[in-house]
Amino acid sequence: MTPLQERLTAIRAQLPEGVRLVAVSKYHPVEALQEAYDAGQRVFGESHEQELRTKHQQLPADIEWHFIGHLQTNKVRFIAPYIDMVEAVDSLHLLQEIDRQAQRCHRRIKVLLELHIAREATKYGLTPDALRQLLDAGQWRDMQGVEICGLMMMATNTDDVEQIEREFMAGAALFDEVKARYFADQPSFCERSWGMSHDYATAIKCRSTMVRIGTAIFGEREYPR
Ligand SMILES: *Cc1c(COP(=O)(O)O)cnc(C)c1O
Repeated sequence: MTPLQERLTAIRAQLPEGVRLVAVSKYHPVEALQEAYDAGQRVFGESHEQELRTKHQQLPADIEWHFIGHLQTNKVRFIAPYIDMVEAVDSLHLLQEIDRQAQRCHRRIKVLLELHIAREATKYGLTPDALRQLLDAGQWRDMQGVEICGLMMMATNTDDVEQIEREFMAGAALFDEVKARYFADQPSFCERSWGMSHDYATAIKCRSTMVRIGTAIFGEREYPR
C-alpha cells in the first residue's frame, strides 16, 4: 500500500456503519485519485467545474462524483450529464437550474441543501429560516429532475470542539424538523453531510452520515497561483 492508501484505509476503518466517505480530491492530480480508487474508494468530491470535467474524463466510469463547492448556475449544464450529487444547494434559483438541466439529460440529480449555521466558515448556505422558507414555498415538490436527499453543512473553523459540536447538533436538530415536516414519507431524505479532516470525529458523534475528507487522505492541497 502507498502512504495515501494507508491513510485512506485507516480513515475508512474508523467510520461506523452508515457513514460514507466522500474523498475530497480538489486540487489533487488524477494520479492521486487513481491511487485512492485502486484502494477501493469510489466516491469523490470536487468543487470546480473544469477540474471535475477533466478528472471525470480521465478516471474510471464507476466513480460517484459529488460537487461539494459553491456551484454557479451557469456551470450546472456542464456537470448535469454525469454528476451524482450536488451537495451545496443554497438557493431556489440554483435548485431550479439543476432541475432544468437534469430534465434535459433525462436524469434525476441528488442534491443536499446547504445550511449556514457556522459563525464564519463560509459565506454560503441557507440560514435555518431561509431553509424553512424555501421548503414552505413548495416549488421543489414539482421538480422531476432533482431529489432532495438531506442537508449539508460546515462548522466554524475552530479548535473549540464544543462549539463545533453545538453547530453540528443544531444541524441534526434541523434535519429532524425538516424531515418530519416535509419529507416524512420520503426515505431518500436521509443524508447529513458534515465532517471534514479536522472535525469528522465530532461530526460522527453528531449523527453525520457522510464525511467529506480531503487533507487527511491526500495531504495539503497545492493551490494554483
Ligand atoms: C475542501 C472541502 C472539504 C475537505 O476539507 P479538508 O479539510 O481537506 O478535509 C470538505 N467540504 C468542503 C465543502 C470543502 O470545500
